[in-house]
Amino acid sequence: MKPSPEVQQLITDTKKQLEHLRVLGVENIPLDRAPVSAPAPNVKRPSDRRGTEIETRTENPSTLFQDFAPTPEKLTPSTETFEQIHAEIGDCTRCPLHLERTHVVHTEGNRKARLMFVGEAPGADEDAQARPFVGRAGQLLTKIIEAIGLKREDVLIGNVNRCRPPQNRAPMPDEAATCKPFLEREIAVAQPEVIVVLGNTAMKNLLDTREGITRARGRFHEYKGIKVMPTFHPAYLLRDPAKKRETWEDLKKVRDYLDSTARP
Ligand code: URA
Repeated sequence: MKPSPEVQQLITDTKKQLEHLRVLGVENIPLDRAPVSAPAPNVKRPSDRRGTEIETRTENPSTLFQDFAPTPEKLTPSTETFEQIHAEIGDCTRCPLHLERTHVVHTEGNRKARLMFVGEAPGADEDAQARPFVGRAGQLLTKIIEAIGLKREDVLIGNVNRCRPPQNRAPMPDEAATCKPFLEREIAVAQPEVIVVLGNTAMKNLLDTREGITRARGRFHEYKGIKVMPTFHPAYLLRDPAKKRETWEDLKKVRDYLDSTARP
């Protein structure tokens, strides 16, 4: 028997909620617990050894997930321009990465793009040319973009960090935290429909997740209401070309999503 539309909706909502919790790192949900907010009347609360009250919960499926679920933050569209953001960044000295960089490398491409790619930080070629993804990894990224029927100029390409870390090390959390707000402001200006995050570091910095790229790739996540597809970094694909197959699977999902939502 087919479930009623209400039951189908409940199943869909529950699946979404469970997926959200899994992304947040929740590994199991004790089903014998209901929220603290609704204690059963006349139920005496037991005490622990220190004499403080222990929560007594009754099961209430409609509110089962309430105390786990944060309100998802939505993107606030911005009317500032990339030029204003870049002018504010200026000759940046906000974090130690400025000490060894040649150029600040800003996001480039189509500022009305439906699709954006976000990497970790510039490498030597990018630092020298002041453009993101122009070295070997960048050339592979261009091929990946073309493989889904787009041109590099059609999309937006940027990094969480705009200065090259010494010896191409991963940016430190505080370096990423200092630079990320500028990327977020660009995202709020461009409002892409999909962001592809390239590699573990970029993904963790943008999505604030504990999952690793191997598990997180291949399915859509969310950043302030924007769909985010994590996939392997092109530099990793240069080292392990066998992973190109999975990257292609991820990018096909992005292409299919964009095709399915394209305005005629
Ligand atoms: N790797 C990145 O993450 N970004 C670049 O711009 C180049 C290489």
